[in-house]
Parts: sequence; structure tokens; C-alpha cells
Amino acid sequence: MGPWPRRIRRRPPKPQIVGSSPTGPGLRVIGLWAGKAPVGLRLMHEYVIARGVIDSLLKAVSGSGRRIRDFRVVVGELSMLNMELLNEALTRLLEASELRGAGFRMEVEPASVGCGSCGFSMSFREAVSGLSEEEKEMIHFIPDLLASYTSCKRCGSLDLRIVSGRGVSVRDVSILEQ
Ligand SMILES: [Zn+2]
Repeated sequence: MGPWPRRIRRRPPKPQIVGSSPTGPGLRVIGLWAGKAPVGLRLMHEYVIARGVIDSLLKAVSGSGRRIRDFRVVVGELSMLNMELLNEALTRLLEASELRGAGFRMEVEPASVGCGSCGFSMSFREAVSGLSEEEKEMIHFIPDLLASYTSCKRCGSLDLRIVSGRGVSVRDVSILEQ
């Protein structure tokens, strides 16, 4: 028995890439496979994130009979997401889900950097100040490269880490008591 499953499942068709998002690594794809039929919707990175947000909320109330009144979506400054597209994706997917009627607010969480040696905390902007635009862009794209380009502004240590401003989180979920 090799590592491969005996029954090869039919692969979904490859999404057709029509151009990269102007705001980051998200790809605009057409006809992304969803279950048995391709969806005729233009799907983007923002849609995938919105889907994840809604699925996590559905999971939180599933089977409880409770409904969500509103929630807050916090988007990290370094997440490379287009807020307008994410807002649109959330609105559309929300209305098409069991969470229909729930409201939400979106906000950007500023990125901050902490020093593991002296405990100094600085904003991302401060941490990358003095670097070229190209270097800043590179770090924005791959934040883990931070210490390859800069060091702690207080003690000079390279032990820098991004403390906030990455990813997307759902907070302050308020439940409609029935
Ligand atoms: Zn330091």
C-alpha cells in the first residue's frame, strides 16, 4: 500500500486567474469550484476571508438556537486585504447565510512590533522608519523578514516580532437573546 488513496477523486477545475489584486497577494479567480458546480461569482482573497469569518460565527451559535445581533471584524494593517472588497464580501455572504440580519463593523488594527530583548514596543511605522520604500514594501509583504532589515530602536537587538496587526479576527460578538 503506497501513500496514495486508491480512489482518485476528481479534481475541481483550476480557478482561472484573471489578475492579481491591486492590494496584495489575493487573486481574483473566476469560477472557483464550490461543491459540485462552479460559482459564477468573482471570488477573491477577501471572499475566502469573509467565508471564514461567517463559518466561525455559524459554528459559534450552531445548535444553540441563538442569533447573532452584531460583531466586529478587526483587520490587521499587515493583512494586505482590501477593506472595501472585504466589506462587500461580508455583506453578500452574510445575507445569503443563516446569519442574515446581523450587523458588523470593520476596523483596521495598527501593526506593532515588540523587542524580545529589552521589551521595547514600537509601531510598525516606527520600526521600519529609515528603510527604503522597497524594503518597507518587502517587510509589509513578508513581515517575518523584519529583523533582516532593521533592529530594535532602543537596544539594537534583532529579536523583533510582530505583536499585532496580522490577520483578521472577529470580536465583540453580541447575541440576540430570545
Ligand atoms: Zn530592544
